Amino acid sequence: MNLMYQSTRGDGTKVTASQAILKGLADDGGLFVPESIPMLDVSLNDIAKMSYKETAYQVMKQFFTDFTDVELKSCIDKAYDAKFDTEEIAPLVNKAGVYYLELFHGATIAFKDMALSILPHLLTTSAKKNNISNKIIILTATSGDTGKAALAGFADVEGTGIIVFYPKNGVSRIQERQMVTQKGSNTDVIGITGNFDDAQSGVKAMFNNKELAKVMNEHGFQFSSANSINIGRLVPQVVYYVYSYTRLLALGEIKEGEAVNFVVPTGNFGNILAAFYAKNMGIPVGKLICASNENKVLFDFFETGIYDKNRDFILTSSPSMDILISSNLERLIYNIAGCNSHATSEMMKSLTVDGKYSITDDMKANLGDFIGGWANENETAAEIKRVYKESGYVIDTHTAVASAVYHNYKKTTNDTTKTIVVSTASPYKFGTSVMGSIDDKYKGMDDFDLIDELSKVSKIAVPKAVEEIRSADVLHSTVCETADMQKTVERILGI
Ligand SMILES: *Cc1c(COP(=O)(O)O)cnc(C)c1O
Repeated sequence: MNLMYQSTRGDGTKVTASQAILKGLADDGGLFVPESIPMLDVSLNDIAKMSYKETAYQVMKQFFTDFTDVELKSCIDKAYDAKFDTEEIAPLVNKAGVYYLELFHGATIAFKDMALSILPHLLTTSAKKNNISNKIIILTATSGDTGKAALAGFADVEGTGIIVFYPKNGVSRIQERQMVTQKGSNTDVIGITGNFDDAQSGVKAMFNNKELAKVMNEHGFQFSSANSINIGRLVPQVVYYVYSYTRLLALGEIKEGEAVNFVVPTGNFGNILAAFYAKNMGIPVGKLICASNENKVLFDFFETGIYDKNRDFILTSSPSMDILISSNLERLIYNIAGCNSHATSEMMKSLTVDGKYSITDDMKANLGDFIGGWANENETAAEIKRVYKESGYVIDTHTAVASAVYHNYKKTTNDTTKTIVVSTASPYKFGTSVMGSIDDKYKGMDDFDLIDELSKVSKIAVPKAVEEIRSADVLHSTVCETADMQKTVERILGI
């Protein structure tokens, strides 16, 4: 029996895992969720003896039941290989009395690599299984991070092409360099003269253009998206929660059945939702601590039961968490509403129309696993300094938000449960903010100038991903007007 998927806003129509991966978003605008969250079928003590890849197989085989063993193992092998700079893939380190789960050892030194290194393989396998012979063209608008992680994931994956649009004057110097030096004959990177919203709107318009879809199909192409709401991105993220829990078991740090807390720096709610799925698969979890920066819409939601995006958007030093609409929260809403797609649909409608919705008391009572917390800019910088002073360990700004929230939580609750702070980016990616927090003398220097200083301070070698972009050739230099985005795609595809 296959585990089937249905929309959070739907009428119960079911699709297989591979169909859900191919579609990304359901036709009714909802997100695909499994009929029920499956349990692991091997003991945690057995998983404690496994490698990251073997653990990935144990988790993913429960969700992607229409993939054969051979197909799934092949996807996993291609994803978690030498693109990562450590065989552990997701090392757990103990610093300043806390465990940090480092999810930044992939191609772009941030956590989106964990899912985007396997999504291309899940997608091409799904296409084959559903007899789709078109070449799949991934079209992405990026404000920086997702674009590079998607490029690195899809580069030279047979049967795919990837086209990324970014605002020419709207990304950091490191981010731009990471993208324009991307290798791979199937990759295209284009700067547009507009801003991120213009890029996003242009991409959306192409996705919705039926005439373009028809012409593409005649030439053997179809669009797909590497969006974070794809179930093919969520499930690979469940793996490292299972993996880190069983590492603690293997190390004898916890006993069988002992609960741990996870603290997750949150933006779109994808990463922490994966922790919730891991708990439902059988991992003993105490609290899931949802850490926000000054855009604390989720903190307010957990406090009040009201989600309200009507507020100022604040630019912070943890830009990947500067989000006011946390798309993946919809899957949790559906779950705490007792899998009621009608109720979910009404709330999401209210979010679109009024920018807010409230959940019922019954739903709020189902949120017991979660605690919200937030850290402002000063607290985030102070936490980077504190952790460095106490242990010599250098954390990035996103990780620092989570670390600060945990530090505060522990002080106010005296909860002594072993806790894992999820570390989502390498400090090298946000060198200016990180080094400026450690010492005033670095203030005002840019990310590139600080690479060698950071290496000295952290005693960690400059990651390959950073070393490469310092010397790599620029391979993409196309710039187009916002209005010409479609023409540019047509030219790339030769249609
Ligand atoms: C995307 C991102 C996050 C937020 O993760 P969500 O799944 O969107 O909650 C946190 N930190 C970094 C470095 C990221 O790139």
